[in-house]
Amino acid sequence: MVLEKYKAKRNFTSTPEPAGDLKLAADRAKSAKPGKGLFFCVQKHLASHLHYDFRLEHDGVLLSWAVPKGPSLDPKTKRLAMHVEDHPIEYGTFEGVIPSGYGAGIVMLWDQGTWKPEQDDVAAALKKGDLKFTLDGYKLKGSWVLVRTGGRYGSRGGDARSWLLIKHRDDWAGDLDITEFAPRSVKSDGDFEDILAADNPDVWVSHRPAEGGEAGAMLAKIIERAAALKAAAPQAPRQGQGPSRGLSAGASAKAEARNAAGGGAPAAQKKADGAGQAQTKAKSTARPTAARSRKSTPSRKARA
Ligand code: MN
Repeated sequence: MVLEKYKAKRNFTSTPEPAGDLKLAADRAKSAKPGKGLFFCVQKHLASHLHYDFRLEHDGVLLSWAVPKGPSLDPKTKRLAMHVEDHPIEYGTFEGVIPSGYGAGIVMLWDQGTWKPEQDDVAAALKKGDLKFTLDGYKLKGSWVLVRTGGRYGSRGGDARSWLLIKHRDDWAGDLDITEFAPRSVKSDGDFEDILAADNPDVWVSHRPAEGGEAGAMLAKIIERAAALKAAAPQAPRQGQGPSRGLSAGASAKAEARNAAGGGAPAAQKKADGAGQAQTKAKSTARPTAARSRKSTPSRKARA
């Protein structure tokens, strides 16, 4: 069943993540025009470990891979990408705090835009484990490939979910470390602490999603910075549960205007232009239409 695994892993009374509307998935699958571009996004996710969730719209849902080190613009640097469960299309613009349970941590919308398959039959390419595609995001552009490395049933050894995400050599390839160079959200322009400060920095006082290791240390610092941000900033009026909830009014208006206008790239991207690494006119602002109207989820209201 569509989104079955996604739903099975989550308790929607306690997570702000979208529940996954099956009718929406069906409608989206029907109206998709791969030749004109499908939605894609990358969500930076600080959970028990930091990783980047790479998602491509296909058949009304988001095919998903967890990329521990994030995408690399260098064709020589192949990044492990673990194939995970399909996500609902509404997940594509999600940004926020998952207080507990599966995936507990902070989710940032790190990149979004459109993708086009470079072969006609995407289902066949996925089955074969070799999907070539072109991205048109704020940060990621040009030709890429996802190649399965684990045996289909684990028979060749290794995990059957293991793929590699590799940049093809083109104008958008280079040795710039894009995750370091452009670390912030394309939705709110914020970093993890801003997203956390907009929510509730107290949620993890008793039990944090990552206690030890690198992720734990990172999270401890983020919680501290979020608390400081919250203490220092006058609280902007909570704008219901809108996409830019909790940011200062100015910042959120700017971020919204940028997203809505379909125009300019984020600040970090503008700097990247100077380095010859990014396109000046970022025209891809495709957002899942459903996500635009999804202002709230019952679970988030219940928590608030
Ligand atoms: Mn994740």
